[in-house]
Amino acid sequence: DRLTVDVSLDQGRAYSILIGRGLLDEAGVRIASLGARAAVIVSDSNVAALYADRLRTSLEAAGLRSGLVTVAPGEASKSYATYAEVCDGLLAHKVERGDIVVALGGGVVGDLAGFAAATLRRGVRFVQAPTSLLAQVDSSVGGKTGINSPLGKNLIGAFHQPRLVLADTATLDTLSEREMRAGYAEVAKYGLIGDAAFFDWCEAHWAGIFSGGPERDEAVAICCRSKAGVVVRDEREDGERALLNLGHTFGHALERLTGYDSDRLVHGEGVAIGLALAFRFSARLGLCPGQDAGRVANHLALAGLPTSLAAVPGGCGDADALLDAMAQDKKVRDGALTFILARGIGQSFIAPGIDAAEVRAFLTDEL
Ligand code: NAD
Ligand code: ZN
Repeated sequence: DRLTVDVSLDQGRAYSILIGRGLLDEAGVRIASLGARAAVIVSDSNVAALYADRLRTSLEAAGLRSGLVTVAPGEASKSYATYAEVCDGLLAHKVERGDIVVALGGGVVGDLAGFAAATLRRGVRFVQAPTSLLAQVDSSVGGKTGINSPLGKNLIGAFHQPRLVLADTATLDTLSEREMRAGYAEVAKYGLIGDAAFFDWCEAHWAGIFSGGPERDEAVAICCRSKAGVVVRDEREDGERALLNLGHTFGHALERLTGYDSDRLVHGEGVAIGLALAFRFSARLGLCPGQDAGRVANHLALAGLPTSLAAVPGGCGDADALLDAMAQDKKVRDGALTFILARGIGQSFIAPGIDAAEVRAFLTDEL
């Protein structure tokens, strides 16, 4: 009865992604069917205030003992200190090997709670209940969990697949416009990577995703199916999974250069600029029609997203600063970089050996 994407990994590991409005109220029954005595929720204070009571009511009604561990909202919670608090909180709630951790929130909570679950008692099962658009279409699927080190983002982590993903698309009704738009950059990304028909569909239906029409559920399902397909073929990113980084080489550099300050730039905004740049760069290299690059930028701009370096609040430094940030401090100014480029909308590919001088010249013209 619900939109479902089934993910079948090797060694018999499999899970379902359920998508639809009101799923949080079914969470108890769905999670109880996994077989557990207790389900303890990890959430941030924004999301907990909105949805934790409903989720707990559903869990208890299904006969599960429930608990709640709350962290502060924001990327700063993907830290060693908060990770320790979450683990100790789960232990204080007497989480045992057979029990289940439920990540209720955006990508920050999913990554943090997933990593705590991966390591607590050498691994307990976890369920993703993503509440941001980014988490519903991207971070809740695929099993990458982790926290940040002072030396860089996502450097401490584990692959730990969820046992179930419950994407209640009605929770997006309370998400801020800005976070909604940021998540939408990742939605459009799936079309640009390998599904031109989906990008066409987005151009026609994007407003319904924002307003909460049936298009929202449909888009989340298409994105999850697309990501799950990649993950099944390349769980640990030895190859194809890198395509999911389309727009992210530029985007991550912009996040670094704006100090991961969400007042200036959130991840999806960096990705939107990165997608526009990846297509313009592909066009400049003669790989992709300029018309496609124009379509990409126009569509993202229509959805309220930034598409140029000029749109970075407070600026982003010069071409060399950008190159250094892209290479994450590896010395590549005179070397070569690997990019995800495109031969057109829906035709991305991994391009190793891109000359840093070409990138510098492109960025100089963009600035
Ligand atoms: P987030 O978790 O910080 O959520 C954004 C903001 O929205 C927060 O303030 C949160 O409290 C609030 N919020 C979430 N859901 C809400 C709702 N329904 N109503 C009202 N407010 C709500 O950020 P995000 O964009 O969801 O996730 C970003 C994180 O995801 C980053 O840390 C990134 O590294 C990670 N990520 C992980 C993967 C992966 O594969 N594991 C993939 C992409 C991104
Ligand atoms: Zn992303």
